Amino acid sequence: MSQDHQREFPSPDHFSPEEWAARVQLAACYRIFNHLGWTELIYNHISLRVPGPPGTKHFLINPFGLHYSEVTASNLLKIDLQGQIIGRADWPFNPAGFTPHATIHDSVPGAHCVMHTHTTAGMGVACLEDGLSLSNFYSAQLHGKLAYHDFEGITVHADEGPRLLNSIGDKPAVILRNHGLLAWGDGVPRAFAVLWLLQRACEIQLATQAMGQPRLISEDIQRKCTADSLQFNAKFGAGQDVFDALTRQIDRVDPSYRS
Ligand SMILES: [Zn+2]
Repeated sequence: MSQDHQREFPSPDHFSPEEWAARVQLAACYRIFNHLGWTELIYNHISLRVPGPPGTKHFLINPFGLHYSEVTASNLLKIDLQGQIIGRADWPFNPAGFTPHATIHDSVPGAHCVMHTHTTAGMGVACLEDGLSLSNFYSAQLHGKLAYHDFEGITVHADEGPRLLNSIGDKPAVILRNHGLLAWGDGVPRAFAVLWLLQRACEIQLATQAMGQPRLISEDIQRKCTADSLQFNAKFGAGQDVFDALTRQIDRVDPSYRS
């Protein structure tokens, strides 16, 4: 199927094959977020590092003003760590909320993809005093993988970066308290797998706490669940198989993101 679509939407000459492949994959991710309802009007970001000149760090990110359902491989912006647009752009860039992305891309080794959401379940749990309850099938798969960072206001101030890094340590997912969810990974599929686990954990918690007191899971079982989790196991795709399946789904709905 994907080969058919690549024939339908040829790679433009002004992007390297590597950059074009990254653009198609990231545009697919924006459409998958839309498919899952993980959108917030025209806000939030998913960013992906692309190869650039030596000594530089360049990223692809959504153009400001477009809904995730309108993002395509060619309208993604390329920016640097300061949020300056590299090359041609038909849309502006929204720096609000980019600070955590820039901080993590710049300082966490291997953090090539960073995702942030404002879903109702995610924000709801982020606003709870006790945060994520380790009381369901999904949250139990995040033992030792989840960090918390205190709210300091809208994330536009670079001086928050070092405190955010300190909060995150080497954890692949962070609950931004009073704010939302954030995950990162060595690529789009891995970051997606982590964020999906966290999102589902928050959704189940929301349902549970609407009915009563959650029944907690022992730390031993949490550890076991995390070790057994398919989302972290390369043998079972570590997110790639899931991401590929969802990409096929959005291809059936609207493959225009490949253009
Ligand atoms: Zn946010």
